[in-house]
Amino acid sequence: MAPHALLSGQLADDGIGDAIFALAADIFPICRSITGDGVRRTLDRLGNDIDLVVHEVKTGTRVFDWTIPREWNIRDAYIKNAAGERIVDFRRNNLHVLNYSRPVRKRLPLGELKKHIFTLPDRPDLIPYRTSYYAEDWGFCMAHRQLAALPDGLYEVLIDASLEDGSLTYGEYLHPGETEEEVLLSAHICHPSLANDNCSGLALLTHLAAGLAGLRTRYSYRFLFAPGTIGAIAWLALNENRAARIRHGLVLSCVGDGGGPTYKKSRQGDALIDRAMAHVLRNAAAAPNIIDFFPYGYDERQYCSPGFDLPVGLFQRSQFATFPEYHTSADNLDFIRPDHLASSYRLIAAALDILECDWRPRSTVPKCEPQLGRRGLYAARGGDPDEAAKSIALLWILSLADGRHSLLDVAERAGLPFAVVAEGARRLRERGLLVNDGRDASPTNARGARAAAGA
Ligand code: ZN
Repeated sequence: MAPHALLSGQLADDGIGDAIFALAADIFPICRSITGDGVRRTLDRLGNDIDLVVHEVKTGTRVFDWTIPREWNIRDAYIKNAAGERIVDFRRNNLHVLNYSRPVRKRLPLGELKKHIFTLPDRPDLIPYRTSYYAEDWGFCMAHRQLAALPDGLYEVLIDASLEDGSLTYGEYLHPGETEEEVLLSAHICHPSLANDNCSGLALLTHLAAGLAGLRTRYSYRFLFAPGTIGAIAWLALNENRAARIRHGLVLSCVGDGGGPTYKKSRQGDALIDRAMAHVLRNAAAAPNIIDFFPYGYDERQYCSPGFDLPVGLFQRSQFATFPEYHTSADNLDFIRPDHLASSYRLIAAALDILECDWRPRSTVPKCEPQLGRRGLYAARGGDPDEAAKSIALLWILSLADGRHSLLDVAERAGLPFAVVAEGARRLRERGLLVNDGRDASPTNARGARAAAGA
């Protein structure tokens, strides 16, 4: 199969950071949870940009060891003081309500109210984000400083919410490629007004899906916008046959802050996506954070569970739970920036280049070096560092072009970006110096690569 042109060169890049930011800002105010209208409204908005298919899974449906929970919808919530003033107001910040709270309306003294209040004493001005999905409860989240200043007395609380049979909602978008083999790109959609975690991931993937829409790709790309944990479990339970087509995958969250970049490997640890992401991050950042799989975090836990064992890693900028804004009201639109979003987008695109365009070249002139100058492939004049890197790439490719090494192998060994090596290989192939003689051009993982290489 002929290698494709690099996706990164075809995806629109101008203003991409601003576009991703604008979409993240659009969905930021919506109060989402694992079920309910917040997810539907968010999918509605994403669906303006891509041809999203929205699925509903009924409450009570068994999905492996789990059951689809009731649907949560909220209209209003507050704490009023004795003067009747809303001192904590859901309408000002939806983090104020314990997410998935059962409804409540009562008057109670401060001492009793405090049992239902969550604060962060070490960050007294921030509102924490808390959930109560699988244990029925009600509560509020607020700034510790505000709580500490509340006078004794009676308070009125209202959570005008409903927990009823309904469904769990998720969105899916498929970009069909030349093969039915799939790349899974997944972002959780269950968090309320938190910008980095995960309006950033939802917005980035939506723009990536929109960008791919006009392009020819080898793989099919499945985009999944589902509530964390239960949404991924539901998708896997309802799509076991499709899951078997997934060759590579990435979960995205927290892709808009200035930290990292971070890549957490799949459980396999040596899958092609693991090598591709490590290569891309090492070439793009001075000190990337590349970490081994561990069984907490995001939905890679489900995709990598032993019954599926999919090669799915996690891409983030700052790693979750390591930054002070994490799961607080400080994870707002000031915390994410268009340039970081654009940088994350480019890193993902560069990794997809490797999945799409890797192949195993074999030299047609393997006995000593072919004469490059005669073919216009060697810089006639010295001194241009770009040209020098390109020439070095050609020498590396030819040196390893024994049909056993992939372009990623060459890039890793030469310490050159994959894109430079892929472009060099394209030129050499054009001049007839390389062939792709029918070996598996893009093995599904490193084990496959070693098997293909006869090792
Ligand atoms: Zn989170």
